[in-house]
Amino acid sequence: MQNMVILGATGSIGSSTLSVMSHNPEQFKVYGLVANSSVDKMLALCIKHQPRFAHMVDATAAKTLKSMLPANLATEVITGEDELIGLVTSSSVDTVMAAIVGAAGLRSTFAAVKAGKRVLLANKEALVMSGELFMNTTRDSGATLLPVDSEHNAIFQCMPAEVQSNLGQCDLSAAGISHILLTGSGGPFLTADLATLDAMTPAQACNHPNWSMGPKISVDSATMMNKGLEFIEARWLFNTNAEQLKVVIHPQSVIHSMVQYLDGSVIAQMGNPDMRTPIAHCMSFPERIYAGVEPLDFFKVRELSFCEPDYNRFPCLALAMQACEKGQEATTVLNAANEIAVDAFLKQQIKFTDIARINEVCLEKTPQSSLSSIEDIMSLDAQARTIAKEAIKAIN
Ligand code: NAD
Ligand code: MG
Repeated sequence: MQNMVILGATGSIGSSTLSVMSHNPEQFKVYGLVANSSVDKMLALCIKHQPRFAHMVDATAAKTLKSMLPANLATEVITGEDELIGLVTSSSVDTVMAAIVGAAGLRSTFAAVKAGKRVLLANKEALVMSGELFMNTTRDSGATLLPVDSEHNAIFQCMPAEVQSNLGQCDLSAAGISHILLTGSGGPFLTADLATLDAMTPAQACNHPNWSMGPKISVDSATMMNKGLEFIEARWLFNTNAEQLKVVIHPQSVIHSMVQYLDGSVIAQMGNPDMRTPIAHCMSFPERIYAGVEPLDFFKVRELSFCEPDYNRFPCLALAMQACEKGQEATTVLNAANEIAVDAFLKQQIKFTDIARINEVCLEKTPQSSLSSIEDIMSLDAQARTIAKEAIKAIN
């Protein structure tokens, strides 16, 4: 029996995780649920899953939740940064699903890694911000890190066992690997007339052709910043150099990524685009469990197609690759700028195409800093947010 804490329980990944757990009640127990401020959703989850702890980051939301919980429920409502770290590092916890969106997830995810937990990593922004520190801490603490992001989970599944058990530390060439082929659908605007991108609305950007996801990652998929963040995520998870990583557009999202070997073999992982597959894989690895996902029907799929990314259409992808080459300061700044820009776009304060402009301005202004702790990284993240907000003001 694994006792689990779900960070980001009320979100898209959180709800898919709880769905997989419900199919396998004899193997997984909900110990803690963590969310920002969605009281109604958290209340429903507490009644259904009866966790030992429900943590709300927003203190007012915690108060409201406490007053609404049925008296016969044994769930304790908590709030506060120290309480959150205490929850994920508690000796009662075996596994942490890290599915808070954005930089807000870094501290708690890092704490779980440092405490040597089994960490199922959906929060890609944590690796984008702190890759080297994160992977070194994983190695030193003996934590088990399993990638939930569908592409990285696919790559993991296509890797030899020695790479899987020594994540982020292996020499890929020595393991017979020539390339990692990171696939992406190209999102909702893959074939849209370039002249129409300026006027795309948040609803259009969030209307992904294959996946159902939270709003931030949906916009990132439309700009392909998501693939850029995943490029950086893969660099750290699999210890690659820039030549070993290639982005391939594959609009059907049936192949979730591939590994190309020196002998010419290519191993791909396939399935319906449903996050419950990679989540279930991480939960049960090295075994397999039922995820509730419909099996892939090749006669329905019929066609798999591929093309190269167009960096003119997707400037955010190019910016992320440049930042990856530059190093940790650049990727931290880009991540922060992008969070601010996407938020402004979702609030209809800037145009869709302004997201890349803001990101580019901020990347050029990356302040010099030395990043040796999470505090250093959060401080650079805060500086970059200020620069991004100024850049947004300058546009308007
Ligand atoms: P979402 O917006 O649906 O959910 C976000 C969750 O984070 C919510 O539970 C929310 O309460 C919580 N949260 C937000 N701000 C917080 C804060 N300041 N402190 C604590 N909790 C906070 O997002 P999602 O789509 O589930 O994505 C979650 C993470 O998983 C992201 O990092 C995303 O990149 C990654 N991911 C998602 C998918 C997907 O299919 N949705 C796929 C791959 C990776
Ligand atoms: Mg992904």
